[in-house]
Order: sequence, then C-alpha cells, then structure tokens
Amino acid sequence: MAATDTQATLDTGRDFIRDIVQADLAAGRVGAVVTRFPPEPNGYLHIGHAKSICLNFGVAEEFGGRCHLRFDDTNPVKEEQEYIDAIERDVRWLGFDWGRHLYYASDYFEQLYEWAEHLIRAGLAYVDDTPVEELRALRGTLTEPGRAGPYRERGVDENLDLFRRMRAGEYPNGARVLRAKIDLAAGNMNLRDPVLYRILHSAHPRTGTAWCIYPTYDFAHGQSDAIEGITHSLCTLEFEDHRPLYDWFIANLPVPSRPHQYEFARLNLGYTVLSKRVLTELVRQGHVNGWDDPRMPTLAGLRRRGVPAASVREFVRRIGMARANSVVELAQFEHPIRELLNQTAPRRMAVLRPLKLVIENFPAGDTQTLDAINHPDDPAAGTRPVTFGREIYVERDDFMENPPKKFFRLAPGREVRLRYAYLVTCREVVKDAAGAVVELRCTYDPATRGGNTPDGRKVQATLHWVSAADAVRAEVRLYSHLFTRPDPGASGNIFADINPDSVEVLTGCLVEPALAAAAPGEAVQFERQGYFCADPDSRPDALVFNRTIGLRDTWAKLQAGDP
Ligand code: ATP
Ligand code: MG
Repeated sequence: MAATDTQATLDTGRDFIRDIVQADLAAGRVGAVVTRFPPEPNGYLHIGHAKSICLNFGVAEEFGGRCHLRFDDTNPVKEEQEYIDAIERDVRWLGFDWGRHLYYASDYFEQLYEWAEHLIRAGLAYVDDTPVEELRALRGTLTEPGRAGPYRERGVDENLDLFRRMRAGEYPNGARVLRAKIDLAAGNMNLRDPVLYRILHSAHPRTGTAWCIYPTYDFAHGQSDAIEGITHSLCTLEFEDHRPLYDWFIANLPVPSRPHQYEFARLNLGYTVLSKRVLTELVRQGHVNGWDDPRMPTLAGLRRRGVPAASVREFVRRIGMARANSVVELAQFEHPIRELLNQTAPRRMAVLRPLKLVIENFPAGDTQTLDAINHPDDPAAGTRPVTFGREIYVERDDFMENPPKKFFRLAPGREVRLRYAYLVTCREVVKDAAGAVVELRCTYDPATRGGNTPDGRKVQATLHWVSAADAVRAEVRLYSHLFTRPDPGASGNIFADINPDSVEVLTGCLVEPALAAAAPGEAVQFERQGYFCADPDSRPDALVFNRTIGLRDTWAKLQAGDP
C-alpha cells in the first residue's frame, strides 16, 4: 500500500497534458481550466472512454476548474435516448460530476447554422450538388490534389438561397451539401473543402423534426468547445489531423473563445475490442446478452461483473498519458482490481462443483456453530457463524482418488483441514454404478476444533466447504476473454475471433447462507476461488453470482507455459 501511495504523489501533474495546463495557468494564458468529455450517444461507454473521462474530469478537479459533459449529438441516425441515459449513469458511476454543466451539441444547432451562413457570406463556404461518390473522387488522394467541381465558384447569394432551401427541406437526402472553401490541394485531406452540413431527413432524439440538415462532427465540435469556453480540448490522436480544420473554423468565425486542442493516445487493451461499431454489432448479433453483459468492456458490463469504479480509475492513473499509441496488457487492467478487492471484499465459502462428504463419527442430526473470519487483514471486519454438521460439501477438484505427487488435498487415507472447522481424514470412497465418485466417507478429530492440532501435527491442505444443513443453491457464471487473441480482428474477421467459451455457467453450486443476502455489485471473495458479486438477475430463491476475477493471474501463467 505504501508503494502505491508514493506513486500517486509522484505521478500527479507529471503527464504532458497536466504540464501544459499548469504552464497555461502559471502564465495567465487561461483564467480557469475548463474541459469537457464529449461522447456521441451512439453506444455505451467503454474502458477507453474511462481514460478520457478520468483525464478531463481529473484535470479540472486537480486545477480547480470545471468539466462539462457534452453530448456530441450531430448524427440522429445512430443516436438514442437510451445511450444518453446510459452515458450519464456510467460517468456518475465512475465517480465524476458535471454539476449543472450538461450540454448538447444539438443545443447549438441554431448558432452553428448562423455561423455556416457567416462563412457563406465571407465567401468561405458553398453549396455543392455533386453526388457523394463523385465528391469523394474529386477530393483526390494523398498523392494527388483534389479537383474543383462546377459548384465551387457559386456566388454568395445563390449559396445562401440554396442553403436556406436545404434547411427548409426542399431537397432529398444527399442531394446537396454545404462545404467549406479552403484548399483542394492541401496535403491534409481534412482541409480539402470539408463538408459542413448534410441533408438528413431524420428525427433527432432531442430536436425532433426541427431540422433536416445536420452539421458534421468537424463543424460542430470545435465551435461547441468555443461556445462553452473550453480552454483545453483534449481528444485522442486520430483527431490530430483535424486540428488545423478546428483552428481554421475558430479563426474564421466570430466565436466567443479560442479553445486549443491537445491529443493523447487512445487506450487499446489486449484481448479487448474498444470500437463502438464492433461493440454495437456484438450486441445486435447476439454474441453477448446486451451492452451490460459482464464480458463486455463497457462500463456497464464491468460494473455488472463487479469491477469497482475505483479500480478503473486506478488503472487509468497507472497507465498514464502517453503521446504514442500502444496496447496495454490485460494483466495491467486486472492488477488494480485484484488489489482493491483483496483489501475490501469479505471472505465467504462457496462450493462451485460440490462433492458430498459424510463425517461418520459426527452424530447425525447434531450441528455446531463455528466462527469464520470475515477478513484476514482486517480484525474489525469481525467473524460470522458457520454451521458444521455430519454432512458437508467440498469442491470436487479437491479430491483425487489416485493423487499425483504434488497433489496435497483430499485422497483416500489423507488428512486435511476444513477451514475454520476440523481436520478430517478420508476413510472410504463411494461410487455410483458408472464408477464416478459420489461421496466421501470421513472421520473428524474433535480435538482440532478451529483447525488447530494440539499435538502439533501438520496437514498440507486447507479446504473450503459448506454445510448440507444450511447451504444455499446458486448459479455461478465464470467469465473469460470475449476474444481468443490479444489482437482481435487481426485474422481479418473480428467475429471469427470470438471466444466460444467466454462464459461457463455452473448451476448446482452451494454457497454459505451469509451469501444469500449479497447485493448486486457488492464484492465478495469466495475463498480459494476468486472475487465474485451477485448479478442483478439474482433473486433470494435463485441466487446468481458473477466471477469478477480469479485470485491470481492464472491466464498469464498459462501463457508463459507454466502449467
Ligand atoms: P466513434 O469514433 O466510433 O464514435 P468513440 O469511441 O471515439 O467512437 P466518442 O463518443 O466520440 O466515441 O468518444 C468520446 C470521447 O472519448 C472522445 O473524446 C474520444 O477521443 C474518447 N475516446 C474514445 N475511445 C477512446 C479510447 N479507446 N481511449 C481513450 N479515449 C477514447
Ligand atoms: Mg469519436
């Protein structure tokens, strides 16, 4: 813990963005920092967005400024109220608050429209009737300059008239666009007369049918920042090439402020897809059970899986803000989750694949109440009572009839410790007609209550168990990677890289009664198994648990060839 604390102090203010902000404040270039997180409401937020959220809200908080939540809702075809609601919920869950600074690009549609007319009047924008496919060809390539079409030299009056008629709904989708008149020979393709407005006869979640022309992302984004007085417009590297255009709009329009854009590296995570387009398809094609499926890298999925928001924030802090794109290993995401859950999750006993164990020298019908420790490192967490009796269940994997050398758990004639209870010795193995082990007959040593041996003899294994008298049935869902390769999609077909075994559902599990009261999202450690939480589907008479993460990074070990 001390190491983490030290790191926190060292890291704060040390990335290039925070350096820029600090310098701008010190030099008086900005009065107060204003940032924004600008999602398009066309899907749920994912762990990549968490990086941007933590940066924008974090910088504002650290430097005493403010951060806006602004929906960049300029494409009504793909946007939905469901996504707006989910985004607000997820940003809040992550621990950030925009206060009263909730905005929508669609609130600026009228202003953006006026600015488009402003550009037309200045001779800096024109209506182009060229069909879309031809437009693309006319823009040229990286090695070939674009060519002017016949509409580039239209007069201001004609342009104004046509643009107003576009707004009035006189033309069908795609019939005309409004373009900026910048430079068709520009090396930066974004400056080759980019489209500012397109005709889209689609209702918008917020403006309804008021508009049938919509600004492009490029035309809306920077000006929205300017309207809101954003000082540091932070975005991912793919927008670096858009910055000259962003600056061109700011320079040529009577905007109330001049934001500056800074780019940082997008988060890419091994075995994970962070593209809303692909995530949308996973949901739509039924590869997962919705946006909040615990296998999804969405914040809603992580929450349902039991990942604490604080671990997500800590992960983002540790990866830092690089200027170059890279892929972060999944293990780096998992470390802070394990660390935090290890500190906070109460310990419980749950048997995922039960095997009956009968203690022959324990009186039938009798039970004892024993104390189980809730957290080994936190005495204040106290103890809870667990029932011990003649019939208990242990994990099937904890018994082997013919154990190999390094297997120290239960085997015929072997003595082991039952956690918080007694030492038991396996006397007999009961099998069914097919030869499968169905029951172990054991004896216990009454002198070893609590797991201590008065004579000092040692046993090599301590097993978790539940009592037949009061164990509760539960379903447990074990998750692994949604994709089979660290670079999903590299095969050429991302859907062919989906892991067919990304979830294993165990239905006959038995858990100790204390778990019946677990609330969804509340982390618990199933001793020796991992961290789990109740699923929102869980009911008192039909408990469902999700495995958040295993105790150790068994995956990394497997990859390293360690059996
Ligand atoms: P798309 O471009 O397909 O719409 P997007 O993930 O970029 O997807 P936005 O809603 O535009 O979606 O993203 C909102 C903000 O989050 C943007 O500023 C974007 O730069 C940032 N962001 C998105 N993905 C990542 C990522 N993987 N890492 C860091 N920041 C990201
Ligand atoms: Mg985007």
